[in-house]
Amino acid sequence: MAFTPKIRKYLVILLILGWVYSLSYLTLHSRKSGNHRQEATLLYRDNRLLMGTLWEVVSPHKEAGKIVFAEATRIEQLLSKYQPDSEISRLNRAGRLKVSPDTFYIIKKSKELWQISQGAFDITVAPLVDLWGFTNQKYNVPVEGLIKTTLKLVGSDKIILQEKDNVVEFKFPGMKIDLGAIAKGFALDCAVKLLKERNINSCLINAGGQIYTLGEKSAHPWKVAMQNPRRPEISGILELKNKSASTSGDYEQFFFNNGKRYCHIINPATGYPADSGITSVTVIADTGTDADALSTAIFVLGRTKADELLKKIPGTKAIIL
Ligand code: FAD
Ligand code: MG
Repeated sequence: MAFTPKIRKYLVILLILGWVYSLSYLTLHSRKSGNHRQEATLLYRDNRLLMGTLWEVVSPHKEAGKIVFAEATRIEQLLSKYQPDSEISRLNRAGRLKVSPDTFYIIKKSKELWQISQGAFDITVAPLVDLWGFTNQKYNVPVEGLIKTTLKLVGSDKIILQEKDNVVEFKFPGMKIDLGAIAKGFALDCAVKLLKERNINSCLINAGGQIYTLGEKSAHPWKVAMQNPRRPEISGILELKNKSASTSGDYEQFFFNNGKRYCHIINPATGYPADSGITSVTVIADTGTDADALSTAIFVLGRTKADELLKKIPGTKAIIL
């Protein structure tokens, strides 16, 4: 069976997570389809393909997976640029749209993160992501003039928000937004909120390498292995409780041209793929939204500016390779 590079990366993460669990728990037996129960700790494990990647939920509560996947599906239907009927796709086509409170919230939050990251995190990079071929995997190095013209459509200050009626409007025709660097994290937060409302206090969610650890596993923090981006080995193990961890890197979606590596994270200041010398950055934060956006921002900003950004959001730290 052939897997895309994205799915391959997440299968590796799943295998690593499986390996970490098996360090302490040996008995695994199959229950209903797609649902496994680890006898020693009564952990249920569920997988689902969502948002173009593999999601995994591990919890002592059997219903956790169902709750998480239903909520992530709801958020995907609002925010996916790959679904023509999503609010984001409709906004991108029309340039102005009254949106749901969730969509309005995450666009507003993205603008705030644009400001505190000094423009490194910018959802208006969408036309550049398309131009470089990262949306349809038809990679190419655009001519300089085209990059300069497209850059005129970039800048989150060009998104106008009308708070009283949830209307989002673009300042210029041709502008588009892409929530690929924040929507998975936001979906994690929404799912965790629902889990808490249902009194579920122990759950690990892995949304294609974007992790949230709710509570503990058997009175210990959850253990999450970090993959070495260049070699098939583990570069470290995180112990997390009520935290999110998000990794952004140059090893998942990229292409080579004349021996140079171009990755899918764009520097909004130049219009070119980020080239800050970082291979991979993992951000740990209290929310999935912050972890997701900050890992992308630090990948653009580089190591020297990372601390300055992290200081602006208490409880965050980064592991940079
Ligand atoms: P991150 O670093 O978190 O995000 C990088 C992505 O953010 C880039 O791919 C680009 O889209 C965008 N970006 C680039 N530069 C910046 C910047 N400076 N600031 C802000 N954003 C930037 N993939 C599919 O193949 N098929 C699907 O159907 C599909 N559906 C999706 C639905 C949703 C709701 C989401 C969130 C993602 C979906 N994806 C899908 C995956 C998506 O296109 C990206 O591959 C993925 O979100 C990248 O995440 P990451 O964690 O690897 O990298
Ligand atoms: Mg991100």
